[in-house]
Amino acid sequence: MRPIDLLYAGKAKSVYRTDDPDVYIVKFRDDITAFDGEKKDTLGGKGRYNAEVSSFLFDYLEGHGIATHYIKTLEPATIAVRRLEMFPLEVIVRNIAAGSLVRSYPFCEGDLLDPPVIIIDYKSDALHDPMLNDDLIYALELATPEELDQIKAMALAINEVLQEYLDERDIILVDFKLEFGHHDGEIVVGDEISMDSMRLWDKETGASLDKDVYRFDKGDVLETYASVAERIFSPPRRETLS
Ligand code: 5GP
Repeated sequence: MRPIDLLYAGKAKSVYRTDDPDVYIVKFRDDITAFDGEKKDTLGGKGRYNAEVSSFLFDYLEGHGIATHYIKTLEPATIAVRRLEMFPLEVIVRNIAAGSLVRSYPFCEGDLLDPPVIIIDYKSDALHDPMLNDDLIYALELATPEELDQIKAMALAINEVLQEYLDERDIILVDFKLEFGHHDGEIVVGDEISMDSMRLWDKETGASLDKDVYRFDKGDVLETYASVAERIFSPPRRETLS
C-alpha cells in the first residue's frame, strides 16, 4: 500500500490517497494548534504519541464491538484507515464540566454530568465549528434521525468503554471529541482519539494530561503526552470498584 497524493492537510494530520481506493493513509504530524489555530507550534515526536494512542484505542474499541476506520500502523506516526464518507460533525461527550462548557454555561469546572452530555458541533473552520441541535442537523441534511440516533448511541457506548479503561489507570475521562463516517452502509468511528481530542485529568492530582497543557502553558507537552501514552499502554493500576 503506497501513498499516491495528498488529499487533505488538517491542522495536525495529513490524509493521503493510496493505490487502493478503499484505503487512505493518515500521517499524524508534530504540529499542535489551539484556539481555532491562533496558537501554533511543532513539537518533535508529538504525532507519534497521538498516532500510537489513537491506534491502541481504536483496536480496543474494535475488541468491544465498535467499528472504527483503523486498519493498521505503517510507520510510527502513520496509519492505514478505511475510507469513510464523513459526517461533518464533531460529537463531543462530556462527563465532567470543563472547557467551553464552563465558559458558555453556568456550570462550575468539575461538576459531574450524569448522564453524560453530548454536544454536536458543525465541523467547519470557516464558521468556527458552531454548535448544532437535532433540528439544525436535519434542516442542513447533515444526518437523518436514524443516523443521529445511532451516532449518539455509539458515542455513549464508546464513552463507557473508554471511561472504564482510563479509570483503571487512574485517568479521568472529562470529555472527548469523536468524528463518524459511513463505510459500506455502516456507521464507523473515524479521525482520532488522542490527547489532542480528549480532556484527561489525573485522578489523584487533578493535573491535565492532554492538550490543555499546551493551551494554557501548564507544563511540558511532550513529557505529558509520553507519560499518558505509557499509562494507556500499561496494565491497570488497580481493579475498578464497580
Ligand atoms: P471544548 O468544547 O471544551 O473546547 O472541547 C471539548 C472536548 O472536545 C475537548 O476534549 C477537546 O479536546 C475536544 N475538541 C473540541 N473541538 C475539537 C477540535 O476541533 N479538534 C480536536 N482535536 N478536539 C476538539
